[in-house]
Amino acid sequence: MATFRFEALKAASNRKPVSVSETGKKSEIFGSNVFNDKAMRQHLTPEAYKAVRSAMDHGTKIDRKMADYIALGMKEWAIGKGVTHYTHWFQPLTGTTAEKHDAFFETSFDGSDPVEKFSGSLLVQQEPDASSFPNGGIRNTFEARGYTAWDPTSPAFIFGTTLCIPTVFVSYTGEALDNKTPLLRALLAIDEAATEVAKFFDKNVKKVTPTLGWEQEYFLIDAALAASRPDILQTGRTLLGHVSAKGQQLEDHYFGSIPTRVLNYMRDLENECMLLGIPVKTRHNEVAPNQFELAPIFEETNLAVDHNSLLMDVMQKVAERHDFKVLFHEKPFKGVNGSGKHNNWSLATDTGVNLLAPGKTPNSNLQFLTFFINTIKAVANYEELLRASIASASNDHRLGANEAPPAIISIFIGQQLTKVLEELEGVSTGKLSPEEKTDLKLNVVGKIPDVLLDNTDRNRTSPFAFTGNKFEFRAVGSTANCATSMTTLNTIVAKQLIDFKKEVETLVEKDGLKKDEAIFNVLREYIKQTKNILFEGDGYSKEWEEEAARRGLSNHKTTPAALKAKVSQKALDLFAEINVMNNTEVEARYEIELEDYIKKVQIEGRVLGDIVRNHIIPTAFKYQNLLIENIKGLKDIFGKDYEELAAEQMMILKKTSMHVNELNSKLHLMMDARKEANAMNSIEETAHAYCDNVKPYFDEIRYHADKLELMVDNELWTLTKYRELLFTR
Ligand code: ADP
Ligand code: MG
Repeated sequence: MATFRFEALKAASNRKPVSVSETGKKSEIFGSNVFNDKAMRQHLTPEAYKAVRSAMDHGTKIDRKMADYIALGMKEWAIGKGVTHYTHWFQPLTGTTAEKHDAFFETSFDGSDPVEKFSGSLLVQQEPDASSFPNGGIRNTFEARGYTAWDPTSPAFIFGTTLCIPTVFVSYTGEALDNKTPLLRALLAIDEAATEVAKFFDKNVKKVTPTLGWEQEYFLIDAALAASRPDILQTGRTLLGHVSAKGQQLEDHYFGSIPTRVLNYMRDLENECMLLGIPVKTRHNEVAPNQFELAPIFEETNLAVDHNSLLMDVMQKVAERHDFKVLFHEKPFKGVNGSGKHNNWSLATDTGVNLLAPGKTPNSNLQFLTFFINTIKAVANYEELLRASIASASNDHRLGANEAPPAIISIFIGQQLTKVLEELEGVSTGKLSPEEKTDLKLNVVGKIPDVLLDNTDRNRTSPFAFTGNKFEFRAVGSTANCATSMTTLNTIVAKQLIDFKKEVETLVEKDGLKKDEAIFNVLREYIKQTKNILFEGDGYSKEWEEEAARRGLSNHKTTPAALKAKVSQKALDLFAEINVMNNTEVEARYEIELEDYIKKVQIEGRVLGDIVRNHIIPTAFKYQNLLIENIKGLKDIFGKDYEELAAEQMMILKKTSMHVNELNSKLHLMMDARKEANAMNSIEETAHAYCDNVKPYFDEIRYHADKLELMVDNELWTLTKYRELLFTR
């Protein structure tokens, strides 16, 4: 008997919903574990408060003396809430967050004068022994020091009994070793570039803030069932398992009533999010069984990125209380939908305007069109780099694989805006007559319908869609740190806006055009140049892949192929020009991501080998022994007639033997391919070898294992089955 599986099933099906205590109004507890504006005003001196505010709003520096005062206030606030430890909280290039807790507690060396201490220098900068974080060769091992530095734009928060201080993580020579540093640089760049362009329309704009509202999809699996699957435990996905008879065909899960056990988990999670100031708002069932989604109110991008990283951590911790395991993997189960993390993105001015929202006047609409068309142009110019920004071993299962959308970046804008762009394109060049100007303003720009928010013809198959007042980058993977895609998107749009401004100014200065005329002229050219990236049809169809190839759009189906664009001369120049990353930083990241890819596929290969050897094949043998016993018995009783009577048994015996043999030989071939891949001369070659020569065996091996699952006695099968993983709740 496959005891572990059945014990897990028993535990899972006997679970009762864990009760969650009511916390009262969300607005009353929101942010109470965050050192936010209110807490700062209560716990800091007016000077210290002003210093932090100015650092947050204008990026000014905080001197050491002031940092001491701030640290003091922060410590008082935290200790008042039962906090004992503090940590610099950062996002190294491991895909998760990192923390090293230190106690506030200090004594003199002889043990006297115990006291709670926290100084400005500890707040501002620390040197974790971080020699084990990926650095892509930036740090020499003998100079393994990197340091973390306080990011005052993302407020400190309390998690458990620890004060967490968001920080950047950089090498001693100043190179970025984390996700936050390049993001902050990209956000600064787009602020500057977009402010300059926004001033064409309103002189009062002083700051433009990129906004991000992510949507996090995930699967919830009973903890005991998850633990019964070595593949889920070690790779976050199922490497084997025959698809269950009922999957998502009936579409009875999407937006369906949320099971009580899950609902209680969500409520508990939302309470934690409220305390941490993560403004979660939406929760619902997703398409696949046991798949769900969570979305917050959008925020400033740096804060939103921190909140998403924090959320993923909190989700797993709260799940433990409810005996669930959260699966963030992009494709945990074959045959049902995978998970993404839609990144909704826009630009907001300090005058309260969403630059990607069509306005009510021709002037505000021209401003909208400017930012709208420049974003399209940026994506058209750098589609390959944008694709690279979302590449990972796990997202490969969601982009360009079987049952997945293609890995082609295109933009959906909807019928109405398509028409507006067509009309704008028809406008004549150069100077405009007064009649032409009036016509343009009133009839083309003026009539952009302000009902776009109810853009009903939304296209769910588009990887990058305009959805009324924001762009939604849908191809981002559910495990991803939003920083990578957001750094790239904000960098390419910053670059585009800088170029746009120059082009407009040249037309004004050299050709004597009026500003509006110049803007129209440049935008019209952009519309002509960017037709290839716009696509309104079914992004999942075979025809689109062919059409995209004719258009010259990239279609990199795998991570090793997609990542290459990151280190193209074009990308290196871009990141350097916009001051987001120097060449060394970009190249280091490329290496780290390739390494990560290799390790992930390598681990999957090993886990698959173990499961086949230790679970599948021994189980097949056990079943064969049952069959043999049965056949022998029939022979004993019926003599010669047994052949006819045992026909089915003998056939199963033969078939199972065939599958076991195939499994064995494929496992050997996979091992040889791994050895070959490991022996390659460069990390690039190794990554390609894992992708092209090792990974294909996964499907071949799975085919035979899944066939055996269908044949072998259910009582003997040790691996928890798909129907059990997906339908226990
Ligand atoms: P859907 O699933 O239909 O796309 P959701 O309500 O699940 O819609 O998600 C919409 C997301 O868009 C939310 O995360 C929301 O915060 C975000 N969003 C809305 N407006 C903006 C904006 N101006 N900038 C960035 N994100 C936004
Ligand atoms: Mg969405």
